[in-house]
Amino acid sequence: MPAVQGTLILDSVVRITEQRNREDLERCLVETLIDLTDLSRVSIVSVKPAGGAPVAECLACIGADGNRCARCEPRPLPEFPLVERAVASGLEEVEVGQNGGFAAAVPAYGGGPDDPQSFLVVEGTGDSAHHRKLVHGFAAIYRNFTGVLRDAERDTLTGLKNRRTFDENIGRIVGAAAGARRGDTTERRHHADAELHWLAICDIDHFKRINDTYGHIFGDEVLLLFAAIMRKTFRAEDLLFRYGGEEFLAVLAPTSAERAAQAFERFRAAIEAFAFPQVGRVTVCVGYVPILADDVSSEVLGRADTALYYVKSHGRNGVRSFDELVAQGLLIRPSEVGSVDLFESA
Ligand code: GH3
Ligand code: MG
Ligand code: MG
Repeated sequence: MPAVQGTLILDSVVRITEQRNREDLERCLVETLIDLTDLSRVSIVSVKPAGGAPVAECLACIGADGNRCARCEPRPLPEFPLVERAVASGLEEVEVGQNGGFAAAVPAYGGGPDDPQSFLVVEGTGDSAHHRKLVHGFAAIYRNFTGVLRDAERDTLTGLKNRRTFDENIGRIVGAAAGARRGDTTERRHHADAELHWLAICDIDHFKRINDTYGHIFGDEVLLLFAAIMRKTFRAEDLLFRYGGEEFLAVLAPTSAERAAQAFERFRAAIEAFAFPQVGRVTVCVGYVPILADDVSSEVLGRADTALYYVKSHGRNGVRSFDELVAQGLLIRPSEVGSVDLFESA
């Protein structure tokens, strides 16, 4: 390999591994391949099951002219026939056109239960084998580094997203709520049927007792099964996190107050009904709040925690909404308590 090209490739690898989230990584990867080759178009296409029929979506795409196409909406997989063939074979699929052009779809990442499959799709003219080594090499770098990014955002025991990922993303979720409800009143009032994001803190009852009675291994097993029931109970578009030892968070995709209450109650009942090996019955407390346009993320969490604390001190094994507790006069909204002196004067 000529020294100059080797240096260019090395620089690209350095740039790719500097990225800290998947979107930036994908954008950087397609740009790199366009810069290093004479390919006419490079894209990353992700395939996920949607009910019975898989859908494909373009995550990043760039042409030789530097024009990027926008991230496309998910479309039925048959609209991406080459990728559909690569999904079926699990191998690279190449299509040669009559005008001397070619397209290739190279499996790049995924296939696990939580990982949609991604394919590197390249288009060009001439011999499709010309850039094959480079394309396969960068697909492997993408696969490895996506795995690293994925592991960094997960909790190692349960596989749910971890606290760091929550802290990094809650601002974006609150921002999305703000975008959806811009122009609304800044008061914490909303229509009962408004579709909002909801945040719940779910804390296992008397977990310390489980550890003390059955040992840490069984304690860990409870955490694992608890997370599995969470995944099963909530919808695929809801975000689930292990926030601390036996504290979990659920952020529901926009839905009404009634449906949110049903979802959290369904989860509480599913935990109560499950026979945990050896340990038997386990219960959970859930405190929840809507995420509104003017919310500050730490305050949302604080309100959910206050509702949780109320359930903990009123019999446990229950679900309560912060706003309902306030409406019923059982909690006082912090803003109504008066200003709090954080620092006492000496
Ligand atoms: P409450 O009903 O009030 O929530 O009581 P609790 O016992 O569930 O809560 P507490 O905060 O007193 O105890 C939580 C325990 O969780 C203490 C800690 O040792 C245990 N824990 C934290 N992380 C892990 C873990 O990863 N594995 C296991 N087995 N235990 C853990
Ligand atoms: Mg607990
Ligand atoms: Mg706790």
